Amino acid sequence: MTDAAKPDDRAAAELRGEHWIAGEASRGGGDAFHGVDPTSSERLEPAYFDAGDAELERAALAAVSAAPRLASARADRAALLEAIADEIMALGDSLLERCERETALPRARLVGERGRTTSQLRMFAAVVRDGGYVDARIDRGDPERSPAPRPDVRRMLHPLGPVAVFGASNFPLAFSVAGGDTAAALAAGCPAIVKGHPAHPGTSELVARAITAAVKKVGLPAGVFSLLHGRGRALGAKLVQHPAIKAVGFTGSLAGGRALFDLAAARPEPIPVFAEMGSVNPVFIMPGAMRARSAAIAAGLGRSVSLGVGQFCTNPGLVFVAGEDGLEAFTASLARTLSQTPVCVMLHEGIWTDYIQRVALQRQLPGVTMIAGGPAVPFPANGSCSVKPVGLLTDLETYESSPRLLEEVFGPVTVIIKCPDVAALEAVAAGLPGQLTATVHAERGEAGDAATLARVLGERAGRVIFNGFPTGVEVCHAMHHGGPYPATTDARATSVGSAAITRFLRPVCYQDFPAALLPAELRDENPGGLLRMVDGTCTREPVTSR
Ligand code: NAP
Repeated sequence: MTDAAKPDDRAAAELRGEHWIAGEASRGGGDAFHGVDPTSSERLEPAYFDAGDAELERAALAAVSAAPRLASARADRAALLEAIADEIMALGDSLLERCERETALPRARLVGERGRTTSQLRMFAAVVRDGGYVDARIDRGDPERSPAPRPDVRRMLHPLGPVAVFGASNFPLAFSVAGGDTAAALAAGCPAIVKGHPAHPGTSELVARAITAAVKKVGLPAGVFSLLHGRGRALGAKLVQHPAIKAVGFTGSLAGGRALFDLAAARPEPIPVFAEMGSVNPVFIMPGAMRARSAAIAAGLGRSVSLGVGQFCTNPGLVFVAGEDGLEAFTASLARTLSQTPVCVMLHEGIWTDYIQRVALQRQLPGVTMIAGGPAVPFPANGSCSVKPVGLLTDLETYESSPRLLEEVFGPVTVIIKCPDVAALEAVAAGLPGQLTATVHAERGEAGDAATLARVLGERAGRVIFNGFPTGVEVCHAMHHGGPYPATTDARATSVGSAAITRFLRPVCYQDFPAALLPAELRDENPGGLLRMVDGTCTREPVTSR
């Protein structure tokens, strides 16, 4: 933390129920709503008000006018990302306290998530400074080429323009107001207009203040960032349809992501929607692995299923096992781990209701038995969105005749599916809808079958994991957190890791341009020392004439 990042008065300041629009706070808008403590259903002050057309218009106009300066100020963007990280730390415990009240996520998890948020901001700052992400390519012209001269062609990536970001409920810091989508958009040079998630408006307000302070500190135009509060679909729909918006980043439900994708596609000018909507994250256990370490795999699986009350898009929802060998020990160990998990509180009533209903529907399927878990603590009898993790067991026949089992249940539940043999595992894998992750557990002696299964899974999932568990997504340069539909709306894109920046960039090609008119990244002398592709070879050297 720098000097500027010591906890200060700003962090302790009272929440005021404010939108932050291009550097200015405002309370105006439509209907009121409150954050709610999911452990007690207590309404949390202050009231927040749905942003209306006037607020959206102000944010959009400011974003459009700030875009050119943000696009051209690579060094300032890096400084901004670091300043945001500093300002978030400067909020101190007030941020963690409010976030804990609004989400019921434990303090240790929130401290970790804050660390992830600030480190991903700093990672993007380093990426922006390095500059290689612009993917500069130069093919030198050749006036002597016969039969026709070859043009001088140079290409690099430029920002798309203002991005609409939807704060996610399950990562109130790392995928919310200053989360991965906002960091990637700002890093790319795109102003961000965030629609805060209505389940944690106070957390959103505090983080928006931090971003606003950072923007001011580095001297960028205030319109590079706005936060609008809202609940009830209208604001999100209008934001995605606004002509100023050029791309959308979203994490949430399949219904929500798909609705926003359809709205964006129906615009007079369609725009890309990068919606990460989750998956069932199948785990495949080969017979050798089951024989060798069934109890250990089950214990690890149980911890992965109940981590964060199962509220991760990478939660392992389906587990396919081949044969009966070791299965009894496996289910016993899984049941033990799940039963030992204490009753936990989910993020909000909507997620709790959805979980309870979907688990009940799965449990009622003929052929499905329960191996762990009990009745949920009723809501609102004790006013708490509490649940116990659930383990279910079924067979291949039931799985094949029950499409419901392939739907994501957001929460701590997993279904074990007994398959007759390895060939059945491969057939199941080939029939899966798009997934964020898929996992294989195998022993050395079954490498051939495991390789075949992994290849099939690679066609269905964005990340394939060997002898591990899908929860805990590392934020790094090689990470891919995405996958074919319905896991996301764009299988090419990741929402975690530095490659997420490419979602908000588009190529521009300059043909036969005079040096003085080229962007610095494409000039012969390579003033920033970027790694560029020159005539097909990657180099940091300046370009010399032919
Ligand atoms: P959600 O219902 O998808 O909402 C996320 C955001 O999108 C909210 O700001 C919501 O605004 C907006 N939105 C949703 N549908 C919309 C529509 N048709 N038009 C315009 N805006 C829309 O997600 P959630 O509230 O976080 O949780 C609900 C369910 O989503 C969970 O039970 C779970 O199944 C799933 N979920 C999945 C993940 C994941 O990582 N895969 C993460 C979180 C949640 P309003 O509140 O204003 O409607």
